[in-house]
Amino acid sequence: MAATADNLRELHQLHQRAKALRDRMTSGPKTLVARQAALVIRKTALEASRKAVQDSKVQLKKREHSLQAHQSKIDDLKVKLNLVKKNEEYKAIQNQIANDKAAIEKLEGEMLEDMMRIDDQAAALVTEELEFKKFEGQVAEFQTEIESQAADQKTRLEELVAAIVGAEAIIPEDLRERYRRTVKQHGADAMAFIENHACSGCFVSITAQMMNELINNNSLSFCKTCGRVLYLAEEDIANTRRSAR
Ligand SMILES: [Zn+2]
Repeated sequence: MAATADNLRELHQLHQRAKALRDRMTSGPKTLVARQAALVIRKTALEASRKAVQDSKVQLKKREHSLQAHQSKIDDLKVKLNLVKKNEEYKAIQNQIANDKAAIEKLEGEMLEDMMRIDDQAAALVTEELEFKKFEGQVAEFQTEIESQAADQKTRLEELVAAIVGAEAIIPEDLRERYRRTVKQHGADAMAFIENHACSGCFVSITAQMMNELINNNSLSFCKTCGRVLYLAEEDIANTRRSAR
């Protein structure tokens, strides 16, 4: 097998397909990690909302107990009121009763606010719980998808790597080392076709001599500027064939 433009293009495409696949194989799990992190944040927020409802309920209970305490105090004071003889004491007890009644009134107002707040928080919590469940389901689904794709992607990558090794048979022995270094440096971008007499990797024009080499020589040519392996674009091959006729 010779390093013809067609063979080189095929090798380049294999490198590109392998790179695209490797990119997908890393981006999928990365996205999953990001979504799982978002899920943790939402779970923390949900737990805070649950706790807020609980706190409001505890607050309401405390006020209820406080109200009952004031009520029984009033009951006790009313009993005392019937027993006192002195006018001063009578007035003092009446004052105390009035204070407790005022406290009860204040508590009733606060309890009404508590109940309204609990209703609002509970309604918001229901929505939040539903949204969380939905998101949790989506993340789990995505994870399953990523995991089920992983095995298939691994097989496909192995196939591509094997195909690359096979296609690399066109690289002349004496240029293998240089080719390897170029692939190591540029990855799937290690090869570039010629477009308008310029390297499509670095866009620097190539000499007429170089162009002739590429047309006549089925060996490897490297871009003198960026070092990429060059090959003729399909239209250039067509032009060459036409002019040769
Ligand atoms: Zn170049």
